[in-house]
Amino acid sequence: MALSRRELLQRGAVAGAFMALTSNPVLAQLARAPRLIPWRNWSGAQTCLPLARLAPKTLDELVQVITQAPGKVRPVGSGHSFSALVPTDGTLLSLSFFNGLLEHDPQTLQATFAAGTPMSRMGQALKDVGQALPNMADIDYQTLAGAISTSTHGTGVGFTSYSGCVTGLQLVTAQGEVLECDASRHPEVFSAARVSLGALGVATKVRLQNRAPYRLRERQWIAKTEELLEDVGKNTRENQHWEMLVVTHSDYALSIALNETTDPETPPIDPAEAGGNEFVSIIEKLDKYGSDFPDARRTLLNSLRFFASFDDRVAESFQVYANVRNVRFNEMEYSVPAEHGPACLREILKLINDKDLRTWFPIEYRYVKADDIPLSMFEGRDSCSISVHQHYTMDHHNFFAAVEPIFWKYAGRPHWGKLHTLNARTLQPLYPRWDAFTRVRRELDPSGKFLNAHLSSILGVA
Ligand SMILES: Cc1cc2nc3c(=O)[nH]c(=O)nc-3n(C[C@H](O)[C@H](O)[C@H](O)COP(=O)(O)OP(=O)(O)OC[C@H]3O[C@@H](n4cnc5c(N)ncnc54)[C@H](O)[C@@H]3O)c2cc1C
Repeated sequence: MALSRRELLQRGAVAGAFMALTSNPVLAQLARAPRLIPWRNWSGAQTCLPLARLAPKTLDELVQVITQAPGKVRPVGSGHSFSALVPTDGTLLSLSFFNGLLEHDPQTLQATFAAGTPMSRMGQALKDVGQALPNMADIDYQTLAGAISTSTHGTGVGFTSYSGCVTGLQLVTAQGEVLECDASRHPEVFSAARVSLGALGVATKVRLQNRAPYRLRERQWIAKTEELLEDVGKNTRENQHWEMLVVTHSDYALSIALNETTDPETPPIDPAEAGGNEFVSIIEKLDKYGSDFPDARRTLLNSLRFFASFDDRVAESFQVYANVRNVRFNEMEYSVPAEHGPACLREILKLINDKDLRTWFPIEYRYVKADDIPLSMFEGRDSCSISVHQHYTMDHHNFFAAVEPIFWKYAGRPHWGKLHTLNARTLQPLYPRWDAFTRVRRELDPSGKFLNAHLSSILGVA
């Protein structure tokens, strides 16, 4: 087989890097198979062919990987980010062996987990020690480190993202230093590392401020989107956690309210039918009929209020928050100042309607409390998070490109884990404490070991 000079050089570089990787006994053992294994994210839109995919079992092994792996290193969680935070042609580093509850304090209701723990494993573990997370996102497939790295959030005007609940963490830096960080030890690093995009080092432990366990009642009902928007103040004030899934090309939305209760648990339901899943399936079907009869599409979609009905359910908080998402999609989400939420949503709906943009996935509309973390989307302002989705088989580029300028108009900040087209030049003005983050990053990782092309672009590193 004849190889071009370029191919020879490429293969030589891979072989050289692999030799470097395997010359260290720990790395050699970890990188057992000399073959490249592709990686892709949940939606399939992000892919890469890393030189090695490593999962160290101990802190010592982790330090060796970070300090001795050739080229770049990217920590990865469950691959549930839509944006290109993870892809690398260097080393992909999983903390899947850093898993489980490490310690807890019954007085302060704080608990420390290994950073690679999937959120789905935390609810029961916390309940067993008399604690619970104050709020959760709408899925629990993320790892704890992955979730805090992007300021992953649920909904509720009184609740911050997961990052706002972090009271301490352990971070391994590019030099292999193990830093214990909290409000009094390495406070500047701690502050920045609560939303780090995986650009400051590898988090190995995370301490969270929790509360006592509680049950939630979930109530879902379909109502006119405009009426729900007019009542937004009441909906958010009167419900601990309120959100809506707005059906595009229709006049209706699914309103979802979660409130604490001491009522007994209702019989368990199939998770595939919870959290709007059944609702999404009905919309998908109605949209299919609707595309054959475009003039009747709105009437057809509006008829879903007759098809969908929902029973209240009561269960432990972590069972209610988490949903199964079995329809794959790509997503763009921006957080705008809370008071601009209704106007921003109205404008998006008008655009979709006026331009007849091809989409059927509901728009998610939520509220999140302000925090003080330099790169959090919620830094310094109570926010309304609005997410637009596109089924993974449908082109999302044109749809997202049409909607994105509306978010910019309302000073929206993009969710770090979701799709957007901003770069450092456009992001920096949105974050008053931008320099606090970039300074810490430069100090901890001057050679850019933890960067990839996307991070270099959004953080403005040449
Ligand atoms: C179906 C679905 C539903 C979602 N729902 C929500 C939602 O309700 N609310 C919301 O806010 N977001 C939501 N998201 C987005 C998701 O929560 C975030 O993108 C989250 O960061 C993914 O976590 P992960 O474990 O998959 O991490 P990954 O996507 O694998 O990585 C995310 C970031 O974390 C970094 N990282 C991972 N591990 C470490 C570590 N040990 N140390 C340092 N950095 C690390 C990575 O380098 C990367 O920068 C959803 C995504 C999907 C696919």
